[in-house]
Amino acid sequence: MNAISYPIGDSLYINVTNRCTNHCYFCIRYKTKQFNQEHELWLEKEPTVEEVLEAIGDPSKYEQIVFCGYGEPLIRLDIVKAVAKRMKSKIPSSKIKTNSKSQAQNPKIRLDTNGQANLFWGRNVLPELKDLIDIISISLDAENAELYQKICQSKYNEEAYAAVLDFIKEAKKYIPEVIASVVDLPEVDKEACRRIAEELGVKFRVRPYYEETYVK
Ligand code: SF4
Repeated sequence: MNAISYPIGDSLYINVTNRCTNHCYFCIRYKTKQFNQEHELWLEKEPTVEEVLEAIGDPSKYEQIVFCGYGEPLIRLDIVKAVAKRMKSKIPSSKIKTNSKSQAQNPKIRLDTNGQANLFWGRNVLPELKDLIDIISISLDAENAELYQKICQSKYNEEAYAAVLDFIKEAKKYIPEVIASVVDLPEVDKEACRRIAEELGVKFRVRPYYEETYVK
């Protein structure tokens, strides 16, 4: 069965679409239809809000709920907003996770995105994510526009990289934790990317390159 949600470690990942504005050559979608030899992530139909909430079940079991997918989640902006809103309001105090030090904890809601949503929607969507998304991980993916386009093959061509940088800057105004990430590819200058993230005032993460299996 196609997976709307799939667990990795203490997090639950949510798969709301297979559509994307990029065509990254490293994207695992082009290598396997079955993520981690386990989760069938090609959707026959994109899920509704109710289907996503049903697939999540009890959110308090997880450290993070992550909009990720086999595609770009912000192409389904309304679903991301509606699901996040329902989760934020849904967790009753009796379901609040308590860790071993007896410290109450809600799962954080994280969004992994390619940072092109403002181009896609033709407006700044970040204010709409305020108070809904706790952590946003934005794929920086390269130290310059030319390399970015070589790797990510955005439908927006040379406009894409500048839009991603703007998206990272703008995200800081609305989302408590912002991470710029790159995949550990040999052609990417990770130190230059780290400096860009520092200049933008956000955290930096190098994501492992994986063929068919991903272990967080
Ligand atoms: S942005 Fe993500 S989903 Fe889209 S092609 Fe690149 S790696 Fe795949």
